[in-house]
This record gives sequence, C-alpha cells and structure tokens, in this order.
Amino acid sequence: MSALLLVENLCCGYKQMEVLHSVSLEVGQGEIVALVGANGAGKSTLLNTITGIVPTWSGRISYENTPISSRPTRDIVRMGLAVVPERRQLFGSMSVEENLMIGAYARPDRPTNRTLRDNMEEVFELFPKLRERRRQLAQSMSGGEQQMTAIARALMAKPRLLLLDEPSLGLAPLIVDQIMEQIVKLRAGGCTLLLVEQNARLALSVSDRAYVVETGNIPLSGRASDLLDNETVRDAYLGGRNDSTDSMEDRIRAKASMLPHPHRAAADGRVPA
Ligand code: ATP
Repeated sequence: MSALLLVENLCCGYKQMEVLHSVSLEVGQGEIVALVGANGAGKSTLLNTITGIVPTWSGRISYENTPISSRPTRDIVRMGLAVVPERRQLFGSMSVEENLMIGAYARPDRPTNRTLRDNMEEVFELFPKLRERRRQLAQSMSGGEQQMTAIARALMAKPRLLLLDEPSLGLAPLIVDQIMEQIVKLRAGGCTLLLVEQNARLALSVSDRAYVVETGNIPLSGRASDLLDNETVRDAYLGGRNDSTDSMEDRIRAKASMLPHPHRAAADGRVPA
C-alpha cells in the first residue's frame, strides 16, 4: 500500500505553546484512518497543520510524495486535499447550492458549467436531501443537513483525500448513522479519508486503522479492529467493555462490509469496481 499522506516527526503549535510533539502517521491510498483522543489532544491542530492553516515548526508532511509543509493552503487544496471543518463553517446566509459552488472553486481545473452541474448531481446522489433543499439558506438547515452540506461542499473540489473534523459533533444518533454510512460509501467510490472523531467507538467501527492522540503525542496506533479490542483503549476512550450486539456501530459495520473495499478486493485478487 502506497502512502498518500505521510507526516514525519511533526512539531507545531500556537505562539510559544508546542501542541504536537514529533508526531508521525501515514494514510494509505483507499484507507479510512481515524484520529481518536480526548478534547484538546491536538487532533484538529494536526488536520490544520496538514492543510497549512497552522504552520509546521519542524518535521515533514508529504502528499503523494511531494512535500507540502511550507505550501499555502490554497495550493494544498488544489493538489486534491479537502477539509470538512469542525462545526461545518458554512456560509449561513447563502443557499445550499451556493455553498456547494464555493467548494468547486478549489478545483485545480477550470470546470465548465456542465461539469459543475454533473459534479453537483453526483453529490446530490450521495445526499438526496440536499437536492430537495438546494435553494434553502444554509443557516436554516438542521445540524445533520448542515453537516451533509459541508461534506458535499468539500466533495465539489473532487478531493482524493478528504479530512473530516468531528462529523458527528452535536448530531442525533440516527443522523450520525447516515453520515457514517456516506463516509464508508465515499471510500468505496475511491476517496481516501482521514477522520477526526471524539466518539472513538464510532470512528474505530468505520475505519481501517487509527491513531490515538494524547496531549500532542501518538502513544498507540494500529488496525481499528485491534484497537477496539485493546484494553487500554477500551478503558480510556470506549467506556469499558461493550457487549451490545445491535449498536449503531455494528449496523454501520455490517453495511460497510457489503460495499467494495479496495484492499479487500486486492487481497481477494479481484479488481475493485
Ligand atoms: P477538540 O476535539 O476539543 O477540538 P482537539 O484534539 O482537536 O480537541 P485541538 O483543537 O487541536 O485539540 O487543541 C489542542 C490544543 O491547542 C489545546 O490546548 C487548545 O487549547 C490549543 N489550541 C487550539 N487552537 C488554538 C489556537 N487557535 N490558538 C491557541 N491555542 C489553540
């Protein structure tokens, strides 16, 4: 598996305060990788440093084998990285459609109106509710609809790597369920995802691999299924044992297993759809 994103010995922070202390991670093509950890651990800072919003102090970030640490955010986004920021950050007084069009400005090509319409149809296929609400102001949408709009806006940039910051924040369980299903579908469609989530159980249930972020360090990483079974992770982040057989995470996992998965397909010798 080739690394699409590689972070090596990254140190960064704000003014005099170092937040991330020599952090390293990688995200392979076609993976869903989660960053889990408590409030204030440094997860958002890591995403914001990858996208150049927070400057790198030392270390190296590479995307598709190209160093991006010192590049401006707009160049990084044009290389195929898109972010769905924490708390969505939509333009509230603009319609859903207008918010989506803003996402398309980050594309490296100069898309024609026809391409943009096709692009928008693709995101409406993923989130049909947005088609119904395309003329509605973003600020008048529900939390779940706003989260869908924020993901759809990022998808308008046609990213190869999507960074999602707390997509479940403040949403009802049923809506979180729907959002997570779409995230898994995005991967099946060829997108690679780096997912920041405070809800560790949820994140681990949809991810291939995960990194535990703790006070600016990564003390633990591995396959998501192994971390779900890890006693330390269970005690610190999962609230102890979970023997439930019908949790939201189980349902998402069951659905995810029915979708094409690039690595599983490769291991089976089948060509991904
Ligand atoms: P949360 O889930 O609460 O967002 P997190 O793991 O994403 O937590 P960060 O938001 O990255 O954590 O915050 C890491 C540390 O950096 C915290 O101590 C926070 O107070 C600090 N911090 C974050 N943003 C800034 C900023 N713009 N200026 C100064 N300090 C900041």
